[in-house]
Amino acid sequence: MSIVTLTDVVKSYPPAQKGGAPVVAIDSVSLDVQKGDVYGIIGYSGAGKSTLVRLVNALEKTTSGSIVVDGREITTLPERELRAVRGDIGMIFQQFNLFNSKTVAKNIAYPLEVAGRPAAEVRERVAEMLDFVGLSDKARNYPDQLSGGQKQRVGIARALATSPAILLADEATSALDPETTGEVLALLERVNRELGVTIILITHEMDVIRSLATKVAVMDSGRIVERGDVFDVFSNP
Ligand code: ADP
Ligand code: ADP
Repeated sequence: MSIVTLTDVVKSYPPAQKGGAPVVAIDSVSLDVQKGDVYGIIGYSGAGKSTLVRLVNALEKTTSGSIVVDGREITTLPERELRAVRGDIGMIFQQFNLFNSKTVAKNIAYPLEVAGRPAAEVRERVAEMLDFVGLSDKARNYPDQLSGGQKQRVGIARALATSPAILLADEATSALDPETTGEVLALLERVNRELGVTIILITHEMDVIRSLATKVAVMDSGRIVERGDVFDVFSNP
């Protein structure tokens, strides 16, 4: 079953200079992510990966083409209804994007509070997520008291607090050392296997794709230039 489907998606930005050519960040991309996939998207800086993430998350509008997320065509949805779609997508980032003035528990509670969940439910869910990511003893700590790997585990707990079907990971391990990267990738593997969350993994690191993804699309200059099972794509001579 498809969970994210892009068909002939184009995203162009106005020219940087007056009279210049528009910047085509995404150039006719089609992509089909199935429920339960760990789908890697790899490419050099400037390939269009972040733009793709912002389009799937409906943070930016497509120039043309179609994006269907969990059965809903998001390119034509009014803003009010996009909120429900975004609730179905959790995000984690290279720089973690935690609130430094909030405790770990408060960071994880945040999306639940925004969604207006009752306090008892928030407490229970926060405890559950702390346990899942192995940080129950850090609930009252602040992000700057944590290691990079611990911060990203908080990021994962926060992203999954509202039980989204999809997790978008945008260079989620790029700021981490190899050992910590392994730890975060192992956690993401559990997120996929134990929670059944579909993961879209954006990275410029081949090893990250190799260790976690089952499918991969290679992006270059706004296009997907190669795609398939990770094993097939990376075993080319
Ligand atoms: P990646 O994430 O793979 O590094 P991006 O999606 O950030 O690639 O960028 C793809 C292309 O689109 C680049 O040429 C970049 O300069 C351009 N671009 C991205 N965002 C904007 C923007 N807001 N305005 C203009 N150009 C942009
Ligand atoms: P507050 O001062 O609002 O209670 P906290 O940082 O103590 O701020 O808690 C933030 C949220 O996380 C609250 O919803 C609280 O119920 C929950 N919470 C706090 N500590 C824990 C914990 N150790 N285990 C589970 N949930 C917690």
